[in-house]
Amino acid sequence: MNHIDRVETIHPGAAAEIIAQENQHIVQTYKRAPMVLDRGQGMTVYDTDGRAYLDFVAGIAVLALGHSDPGVVAAIAEQAGKLIHTSNLFYTEPGVRLAARLCELSFADRVFFSNSGSEANETAIKFARKFAKESADSSAKIGIVAFDHAFHGRTMGALALTPKEAYQAPFRPLMSGVTIAPFNQIAGLDSVITAETCAVFVEPVQGEGGVYPASPEFLRALREHCDRVGALLIFDEVQCGLGRTGDLWAHTASGVTPDIMTLAKPLAAGLPIGAVLCTERVAGTLKPGDHGSTFAGGALICHVAEYVLDRIAQPEFLTHVTEMGEYLQERLTEINSPHIKAIRGRGLMVGVELDIDASEVIDQGPTNGLLLVGAGPNVLRLVPPLIVEKAHIDILAEKLTAILAGL
Ligand code: PMP
Repeated sequence: MNHIDRVETIHPGAAAEIIAQENQHIVQTYKRAPMVLDRGQGMTVYDTDGRAYLDFVAGIAVLALGHSDPGVVAAIAEQAGKLIHTSNLFYTEPGVRLAARLCELSFADRVFFSNSGSEANETAIKFARKFAKESADSSAKIGIVAFDHAFHGRTMGALALTPKEAYQAPFRPLMSGVTIAPFNQIAGLDSVITAETCAVFVEPVQGEGGVYPASPEFLRALREHCDRVGALLIFDEVQCGLGRTGDLWAHTASGVTPDIMTLAKPLAAGLPIGAVLCTERVAGTLKPGDHGSTFAGGALICHVAEYVLDRIAQPEFLTHVTEMGEYLQERLTEINSPHIKAIRGRGLMVGVELDIDASEVIDQGPTNGLLLVGAGPNVLRLVPPLIVEKAHIDILAEKLTAILAGL
């Protein structure tokens, strides 16, 4: 029997106790939905009371292949039984193979592995600073430009590039040298990207900030301005990369190539990984000892990631994402609710802008058998596993119609 069919309650009544223990023992930085998730298969997750939920969150754009994909489970088991971790003091094969494959499939010549999206961006900040030190005449070339509504992470460097008051205020002073400019606005870039800029960070599709795609013209203008002043152009594809938009890389359609691209979320199917892809010109300014990580690039994670990358990079897989993304937008457009102000996004990264707080919809997800997430105060963000099918989207559309009708 497949374990999807086994919906019997495995821990009846356990949820209340687990939630009470969480309140007692975990640092309270997260607001969580009021059930305890226990297992999943494909698009569906079950809680400890056996209730099923269709997952339109995917661990926040992480589970590209859905829950407990048999190929992922096999890849984990295969490598776990062989070698899990050795540190970067020694050579192992899986990370080398994964890096070679990432380079083959992208603009990059070399890869540095990390353990999360924030850490990949921290690394990119350090690479940009080092590149400028090695290649610029002026020691003042330390500036970094990022944009309104950007999200690059919560660690101190990445946080400085994430201009949200609630995230930054408790932790000031932040890393200095950062300028925040208007997103998708070309006018004025000449005065923001200057000789003192060492890097420009941008998400080709902003995620947390409300699902805003960057225009191809904007990305092109960033490239030109970076080239004008000798700054690195850094694409943060932590959320929008690796098939989410229907292209393997979100920036490909713009025709613009970055100097560095950061990846994370879906790369190892839910296991923690980050990657910094860069050109030889950038990598050439780094030497042993410049940066490092105990866990990064471990054999287990990289073996799984190579499996995931091969699955996602299949043309049929990417076509499926494009088709499902179009179908999702079509079905959402048919919802005739005055609360919907706009629907935007690319592929399976879709934002529904509401005239009400998105939490009013999201909080009703669980009782309607849905897992939902927002992006900013009034945007519902739909980032399901990339294996989603029309039948799942139909259920979502029907339930969202009912939820919105009641608000
Ligand atoms: N960059 C982007 C574009 C993201 O969406 C996120 C996470 N939401 C991050 C960076 C940070 O990644 P992590 O949470 O893995 O540190």
